[in-house]
Amino acid sequence: MIRLYNTLSRMKEDLIPLKEGWVRMYVCGPTVYGLIHIGNARPAIVFDVFRRYLEYRGYKVVMVQNFTDIDDKIINKANEIGVDPQELADTFITEYFRDAHGLGIRPANFHPKTTEYIGEIIDMVRGLIDKGYAYVTKRGDVYFEVRKFDKYGELSGKKLDDLLAGARVEPGEGKKDPLDFALWKSSKPGEPNWDSPWGKGRPGWHIECSAMSTTLLGESFDIHAGGEDLIFPHHENEKAQSEALYGKCFAKYWMHNGMIRMTGEKMSKSLGNIFLVRNALKAFGRDAIRLFILSKHYRSPMDFSENILLNNKRAADRVWESLERFEEKFEEVPVPKYDSWMDEKVENFKEILDDDFNTPEAVALIFDLVKELNRSLDEDDEGKALKAYQLIKREFGPVLGLFDLSREKKELGKEEEILKILVDVRNRLRLEKRFDLSDEIRNRLKEIGVTLKDTKDGTEWSVQQ
Ligand SMILES: [Zn+2]
Repeated sequence: MIRLYNTLSRMKEDLIPLKEGWVRMYVCGPTVYGLIHIGNARPAIVFDVFRRYLEYRGYKVVMVQNFTDIDDKIINKANEIGVDPQELADTFITEYFRDAHGLGIRPANFHPKTTEYIGEIIDMVRGLIDKGYAYVTKRGDVYFEVRKFDKYGELSGKKLDDLLAGARVEPGEGKKDPLDFALWKSSKPGEPNWDSPWGKGRPGWHIECSAMSTTLLGESFDIHAGGEDLIFPHHENEKAQSEALYGKCFAKYWMHNGMIRMTGEKMSKSLGNIFLVRNALKAFGRDAIRLFILSKHYRSPMDFSENILLNNKRAADRVWESLERFEEKFEEVPVPKYDSWMDEKVENFKEILDDDFNTPEAVALIFDLVKELNRSLDEDDEGKALKAYQLIKREFGPVLGLFDLSREKKELGKEEEILKILVDVRNRLRLEKRFDLSDEIRNRLKEIGVTLKDTKDGTEWSVQQ
């Protein structure tokens, strides 16, 4: 039996899906106005692996992950660079899939976009008005009336009176209560808009996820997941409006991943401390990033630095070296017959992950098996080595999405390595303000046709052939 920590009950609970054998889950996806960073990679990898594990345990999984493709941030960015907001969003959806593929993340069964669900959103808003949970203002905005929904605050544990402190209604807003949140926003000039019974406008943020999840998974479904920064207000509001409208439990289990911190701060685009997935993939490879994410329990916060990734890359390389050392012996590695030793490891693996998806322990189990593989190779015990290999490469690896695809050969050539050393030394010199020497490195490289360019993500170089 799989047990999961449910944010709603604040306890570990047995996973008992609403429909036997099936798990229907919804994961809040990114707002698409830029390339994804390592902070976005965490929920993507965690819930990809969780889904693989459910399948490994025999469930059929229907997974939905949305794209928020209409939002203030998208509109602002599009205006800034002078393109259509939809074009901007679509561009970054394509780029998202490129990075997700690079990370070895399987596409969900459905990837709905907000702008494709405007009709469903309007129907929900209308239903909430009809039931008396929402009201229309003079401006043509529609708000959800938080105080009408008894269970508001149940998910986040927040109390209405605490929330009220400091909250206020802006002049002209027309809200009955500062806590009420927008279901539909009347359009401002120059913004994308859609026709609605309340005039031209666009959806508020929270309603989109309620519309997409209930349309694709039903009015009640099993798991709603996302980053813990979404618990309030996003998930609290999703839950309130869905349960108010349908009068039944929205999501049975709520799973939230912890945040990634860089120098102690939560990582998000708006804070500016970005490490792009694309750059990380180029520098460290898929297995290093997945290993990094999975080596912490999904609910814990985790620290990020280039050094941590580098250590994970080294660990991943060592695993690959052992696997390849064994593979060299065969044209094709045979499949061994499972014996009690192997069965015990499999049981152990399931016990670990059944307990609130404890991936760090599962990763540790793989590393124990790598030790076993190395020892068996040293002792020429081919039978034992084969068993360890089977478990790492074919049994557990594919569940965690580790070491399952071919190894990425991203080794730098010697010349590139020397160049990298020079760049590193130059960056140290610049930090120590020894610009005479750092400039000399740059100038002399330039003489031989190597141009260095300093960006906020580090130093790039180009070589004139
Ligand atoms: Zn959402």
